[in-house]
Amino acid sequence: MQKRILGKTGLEVSVVGFGGIPIQKLPMREARRLVGEAVERGINFFDTAQGYGDSEVKIGEGIKGKRNSCILATKSPCRTADEAFSHVKKALKRLKTDFIDLYQVHHVSKPFELEKVLSPKGALEALVRLKKEGMIRHIGITGHNPSLLQEAIRRTDEFETVQFPFNIVESEKDKFSLLNVAKQLKVGSIVMKPLAGGVIPEPQLSLRWILQQGVDTVIPGMILSSEIKENVITGERPHPLSSEELSRLKDSVKDIGKNFCRRCMYCEPCPEGIPIYFIQELGDKAKVKVDEIKNMCKEIYARLKKDVEDCTDCGECEEKCPYQLPVREMLREKHKLLT
Ligand code: SF4
Ligand code: SF4
Repeated sequence: MQKRILGKTGLEVSVVGFGGIPIQKLPMREARRLVGEAVERGINFFDTAQGYGDSEVKIGEGIKGKRNSCILATKSPCRTADEAFSHVKKALKRLKTDFIDLYQVHHVSKPFELEKVLSPKGALEALVRLKKEGMIRHIGITGHNPSLLQEAIRRTDEFETVQFPFNIVESEKDKFSLLNVAKQLKVGSIVMKPLAGGVIPEPQLSLRWILQQGVDTVIPGMILSSEIKENVITGERPHPLSSEELSRLKDSVKDIGKNFCRRCMYCEPCPEGIPIYFIQELGDKAKVKVDEIKNMCKEIYARLKKDVEDCTDCGECEEKCPYQLPVREMLREKHKLLT
């Protein structure tokens, strides 16, 4: 697996890292095995979050005995110093570790949130202190608003990494601009949603296209051994796309448009407890022609405590979705695919 230096953190991370959202829906035993397999195959960068169900716990279990060969990144929506102190403490416990390599302020997408984080007694002040005390080694920021993230890394040099969604269907100018500024400031770049939440039908070409743009690491979610194997092969030789491959990738996404779920979670929580973004993702994964993946998605859906049948049609999710998606209609379609 090739490695790149994650900006000024100096950490040497695998170009393909492990995105921690999907494993929250796997049984503990399978999740532990999957994480262990990822480490054995050369993935050393693991990204999770307080908000990803029990993902932190599962990753902590999966890397048991292998902690020294792993770089652990997690995050929380901490905005105040008190929140940062308590969230880091909780993460250390859940990950079963003495220190976290990279702690990120999660999902900073509105200007007032950034102000709160940067203000006296804000989250950043606490994270700097926790870094001095050795509980965390580096500090990062994540979000879906590229211009706000750019402002954040310009306003303080405490953020050593920036994490944002980026792929061939979500490659707006402000994302290239953020990437350039991050490079100039030696801020490490971490790309989430490299497969646009599973809607890009050529996953390996997509990963290579992103790496070709000069990002430090991409973190696709993985729930199958086959996904780990394929991603590792790509990470071992992430060569730029040929013109034929680029045309193939562009052709594969030409009908996607902008009307798809980005897994940003703005629509949650649903008052009925329906895991909206997760069902969207599962439904998109189930569209593939591979029976193994389709059946796995159906099994996972069948195990959910709440599903689309619990929807009361309140419409709250559509009011909150920043992409103005017809969320209810999309969920009903996904339900059909998954049952
Ligand atoms: S419309 Fe359905 S899915 Fe959306 S918030 Fe209401 S109950 Fe939840
Ligand atoms: S439905 Fe909209 S708000 Fe919800 S995760 Fe998808 S894109 Fe985000």
